Amino acid sequence: MNDPRNSTPHVRGCSPEIQFARHQAEELALSLLRHGARVGVVHWATGLKVDVLAGWYRQIHGRAPPRGPMPENSGSMIRTRTEQLYASLFGVIYTGHHKDSASGRMIDPESLVRAYEMYLSLTDGPAAALSINNAWILARDLRAGLASIAWCPACQAHYIAPSESILMGCPLCALYSRTGGRSGRRPDGGRGERTVTAHP
Ligand SMILES: [Zn+2]
Repeated sequence: MNDPRNSTPHVRGCSPEIQFARHQAEELALSLLRHGARVGVVHWATGLKVDVLAGWYRQIHGRAPPRGPMPENSGSMIRTRTEQLYASLFGVIYTGHHKDSASGRMIDPESLVRAYEMYLSLTDGPAAALSINNAWILARDLRAGLASIAWCPACQAHYIAPSESILMGCPLCALYSRTGGRSGRRPDGGRGERTVTAHP
């Protein structure tokens, strides 16, 4: 596979520990960039220089890295039931894998990549609804308590529930009722959902 590091001068004279840490940061950066992560997200995750990362992005994708604002939070990012469904799939995988609690308020970027790759393997690949940048926003919001994983008593599914969202309740029940199936709503109007916190 194309490795942009081949055109980056190697740093010599560092201790083996520093070289190993740098190698790991570079591997993580390349994984994130290959999935289309924004340079700002990769810089946050690895601490590598923005101009180096922007050069790698250009080499991998053949175009300049995108600029402009990212969605502010998961609530503004998830606007349809289908988007909520894909976000839920990633959120459930991520909360099952992450090690965030061990490192305070930080997201674990390796777990983010692993969870995102598992998400892709379960969906239709890179064209699926959730970009890795959106996955990062979800992980951040789960960490910060701005989104949670809720449980639907009607269909027994876990789903993502951003704290500020126009979408209330379970995406599976909402999509199912749209196709003419049984509505998942219970006599309490669907408010019986239980929140499973994704952070300790
Ligand atoms: Zn449901």
